[in-house]
Amino acid sequence: MSSRRILLPQPIESEAVDLLENLGYEIVLSKNPEPLTVSPLLKGVQAIILRTGLKITRKLINHADDLYIISRTGAGLDNVDLEAATERGIIVTSNLGVNTSSVVEHVLSLMLALSKQLPLLDKAVRNQNFSIRYRYLPKDLRNKTLGVMGFGRIGSEVGRICHQLFHMQIIAYDPYLSGDDKKSYKGWVNFTSMQDLFSQADVISIHIPLTKDTRHAIGVRELSLMKSEAILINTSRGAVVDESALIKALRDKKITGAGLDVFETEPVSGDNPLLILDNVILTPHTAALTRECVVSMAVQAAKCVIDVFNGQEPPNVANPKVLNLDRWKHLSKVNDQNLGTSP
Ligand code: NAD
Repeated sequence: MSSRRILLPQPIESEAVDLLENLGYEIVLSKNPEPLTVSPLLKGVQAIILRTGLKITRKLINHADDLYIISRTGAGLDNVDLEAATERGIIVTSNLGVNTSSVVEHVLSLMLALSKQLPLLDKAVRNQNFSIRYRYLPKDLRNKTLGVMGFGRIGSEVGRICHQLFHMQIIAYDPYLSGDDKKSYKGWVNFTSMQDLFSQADVISIHIPLTKDTRHAIGVRELSLMKSEAILINTSRGAVVDESALIKALRDKKITGAGLDVFETEPVSGDNPLLILDNVILTPHTAALTRECVVSMAVQAAKCVIDVFNGQEPPNVANPKVLNLDRWKHLSKVNDQNLGTSP
């Protein structure tokens, strides 16, 4: 039996818990993900498996005395102070790509539901307003222009499907893609400026990470460039959009609608003006929370922990600098970084 302890600030799927417990690891489950509850539990744990309900700050990290790894179940790392973890020699891993197809499906659902006016039409039928059908409110996506901000895993897949399925013209803004990457999309993607993307697209989908540079990357200026018929989808992180500016644009009908899975403050507070707008579809950060996806994310996050405990380098280390420390020199490399190695 191993005496290693793994802290779960929030519960994870039983498949992942079973995997860890069957190997003899002790699970420490926090009653809630509040920093005050979690901080005393950090003493004596070697791993944290982290969902999105808690931010692992420098202050929290300072409560840990034997932490090896912070393993994110999802892709985003905005709820980990990466610098503080790196300074303490703690490995941070994320789960890249595991949730891509689930998020893509969610983006398409929001895009189609908004274009086809599903919430409004559903309400009309229930209210005996069947004649709404003659107002021809739904719109087609076919041959329209999709603007993708952030052409990484999720953004490029949304673009590919919309191009192949709906014959949409794809324009994209991603200043960090290499020339070779851009070349690989030649023929069906036009890389453009952010300004052109916002002024030309009929549907805009945001897929950039939240960093100090991308906070409010979409604000009054970008929204004012949008066509009045255009819709905005955000499934990345709420704070990349200036939510007050978006609310104003939606309220003043400067844009047609928005599909939002993420918000500046989560959970959304009861007085958030978005809640009374009828040109938005709101989902509670569930793009990746399909049954299939959460199991897969939790199991992958658990495998990263097991890798480190077994003396192997886990996949998707977000702070590879720490691997040069004496502390981690014993870790053996894994040939295929995307497969992981553990049982
Ligand atoms: P990714 O790293 O594969 O792609 C992000 C892309 O954004 C990269 O190509 C990068 O070059 C680009 N980028 C970075 N800054 C940019 C900027 N200022 N302007 C334009 N492009 C920029 O990530 P991914 O897996 O496609 O995920 C995208 C985002 O979606 C993640 O950062 C995460 O926050 C979010 N996400 C949300 C959910 C959810 O449940 N709603 C689930 C998974 C991921």
